[in-house]
Amino acid sequence: MSDCIFCKIANGEIPSDFVYEDENVAAFRDVNPQAPVHILVIPKKHIASSAAVDDSSVWSSLMGSAVKIARELGLEADGYRMVINTGEQGGQSVPHLHLHLLAGRNLGWPPG
Ligand code: 5GP
Ligand code: ZN
Repeated sequence: MSDCIFCKIANGEIPSDFVYEDENVAAFRDVNPQAPVHILVIPKKHIASSAAVDDSSVWSSLMGSAVKIARELGLEADGYRMVINTGEQGGQSVPHLHLHLLAGRNLGWPPG
C-alpha cells in the first residue's frame, strides 16, 4: 500500500535497521524501543491487522521468523515476549500487521 509506513520500510523506501529478511517477512528494530531488544516482524504483503489475516501461512512465517530471530540473538536464555496489538483498544498504532519481539529486561505481567 503506497502510503503505509511499514510497506515503505519493507520495500526499502524508508531506511531501517533490519535484523532479518526473507521472501515473506521483514524484521527491523523499533524506532522507539520499549526494551533493550525491540524488533518488529512484519509480513511484506500489506495486511491491516491480525483481524484481516485469512491465510494461516502468515502466522507460521511471522511467528516462525520471530522464534528464529530470538534464537539467533540468543534471547531464549533469559526469555522474551511476542506481542501483536490489534485495533484501538489493543493499542495498535500502525495499520500494517506487526509482531513485537521484546527482550533484555524483566517485562512484567500483566500488561498495564
Ligand atoms: P503498535 O502500537 O501499532 O503495536 O506498534 C507500532 C510500533 O511501530 C511502535 O512501537 C513504534 O515505535 C513503531 N514505529 C512507528 N513508526 C516507525 C518507523 O518509522 N520505524 C520503526 N523502526 N518503527 C516505527
Ligand atoms: Zn503496509
